[in-house]
Amino acid sequence: MARVRAGLAKLSSRSQPVGLILLYHRVADLEGDPQLLAVEVQRFADQMAHLSWRYEVVTLHELIRRRSTHSDVRRPLVAVTFDDGYADNLVNAKPALESAHVPATVFVASGYMEGEQQFWWDELESIFLRPSSLPEVLPLSVDGEMREWVLGRDTVYDDAQCIAYRGWNVLCREDPTRRHQLYRALCALLRPMAEADRERTLCTIRSWAGYLHATASSHRILTPQEVRTLASGPWVEVGAHTESHPVLARLPLGAQREEIGRCKERLQSVLSCPVTSFAYPYGTMADYTADTTALVKEEGYSLACSNYPERVTRDTDVYQLPRFVVRNWDQDRFRTMMESWWQGTIGEEAHAY
Ligand SMILES: [Zn+2]
Repeated sequence: MARVRAGLAKLSSRSQPVGLILLYHRVADLEGDPQLLAVEVQRFADQMAHLSWRYEVVTLHELIRRRSTHSDVRRPLVAVTFDDGYADNLVNAKPALESAHVPATVFVASGYMEGEQQFWWDELESIFLRPSSLPEVLPLSVDGEMREWVLGRDTVYDDAQCIAYRGWNVLCREDPTRRHQLYRALCALLRPMAEADRERTLCTIRSWAGYLHATASSHRILTPQEVRTLASGPWVEVGAHTESHPVLARLPLGAQREEIGRCKERLQSVLSCPVTSFAYPYGTMADYTADTTALVKEEGYSLACSNYPERVTRDTDVYQLPRFVVRNWDQDRFRTMMESWWQGTIGEEAHAY
């Protein structure tokens, strides 16, 4: 009986939560945010101030190192991470991190650092959810079959509509116009596509819409020089987020290895130092497999972040670190969400890029 009790005590100490990992994408004041990726600049500063007052904010590596020994449940460990590598991580987030003394890891998709490339979801936003006039029918070849989407009276989208619907996002139940319907349908279509198919489809959509490249300076990605500047100083570690941001689970293993390995090489050559942290694109359990996790380990990373809302315990798999997605919340809401996550009473939806 004593042995059973000792076993149970050991088990409960192993599953005892020690900390939380937060997932951000962008710190920016935007016209619209259909994917709910951005936290406003002032709100982010408020959130960081709250973190450094209430929690023990540490790097990801320190969180993992200390997860077996940390026992102060009143002051949990917290690590801050960013996915994707938007330029605003340097321009807006880094100053706030520095002034609140909060360390963070920024996971960069290395294939987007050069040229004028933007993420596909941002291109779709620029094409469909900004004022413009588009052709009435969009024909697209999907899996060898021609499909058509009709914009009808929503071919023209003006400034007033753009302002009226700026609060719309993909978690809304209603789509106010056919443009929003189409944006949502195309997001679902493009997300699982391999890089080449996705680029081909985007190319068709761009030329249909009359864009050479649908770029918006508000959605700019870090350049290699900016990645270096971001990583300089004690506050920001740069980690890898693949080259082209694919759903890894849908790729053959060889292609997965290239995405995981090349991103590391590319970032290491930009930074001239080892890159040892990785985050799975999209990051839900459906977006990678046990083989992916093994590849990440083989390619020399020492930890990897997923995207499912759980607290870190001493048993947490360091190659599938859970994270909580932070939204554009004011300090009160942020404080409440943090306490609920820490108490284990709420899990936010996993939607994230
Ligand atoms: Zn991502």
